[in-house]
Amino acid sequence: MPTLTVPAFDLAERLLSENRSGRSWRAIAREDYRNRVNFATLNRIANSGGAWLPKERKILRALGLVERRKRTPIQKAISRMVRDTRKAMIEMSPNPIKVTRAQANRLERNLKKAKVEVKEEELRKHTTCSNCGKKIGHTGLPGFWVLKVERHMIDLRAVKRQDGLAAMLDGDVVLAQVMGPDEDMTLPMMESVEITLCEECALGDVNIGGLVLV
Ligand SMILES: [Zn+2]
Repeated sequence: MPTLTVPAFDLAERLLSENRSGRSWRAIAREDYRNRVNFATLNRIANSGGAWLPKERKILRALGLVERRKRTPIQKAISRMVRDTRKAMIEMSPNPIKVTRAQANRLERNLKKAKVEVKEEELRKHTTCSNCGKKIGHTGLPGFWVLKVERHMIDLRAVKRQDGLAAMLDGDVVLAQVMGPDEDMTLPMMESVEITLCEECALGDVNIGGLVLV
């Protein structure tokens, strides 16, 4: 639970003063919180000075202590992708999983509703594992790994230049660093690429170079 010491203290103060002004806890619960928070809960918060708070997020939200968690477009896209993956898993399954008519309809509706967004499209690139080629959900987990791979070569000429400068500066490497042109010591050998791994492959033996170069 988030730390809410100050706002909870403020809330307790406010509740207490409302109650002292003659409003019953029931009235406060009904009129101020539309009974989304129990009157006994309000009483307990006020009496504890905000030190005690209910645990349910829903109630904390009704009390105005925590904000509604907004789902970002990427989170929405992820849940859609999880649904898609689940659907694909059902379709791929050698022993068809029994899906009720209602479940299938809901799945269809959700898939139709799913608008294609850039982020989602980006996410779709990651629906299959670059190593085993299976749908990333095949492990039963909706998680996957994305690796950004770069290949660099050491630029020996640049290193030599830096070394030469250090030699001139009586071997002072630090001074050479400061005095030197601060140039790149490596040359990228390719555009960076992203590879997706399912949970299983990510934890197993993967030949990254082989995946990228093939
Ligand atoms: Zn895999």
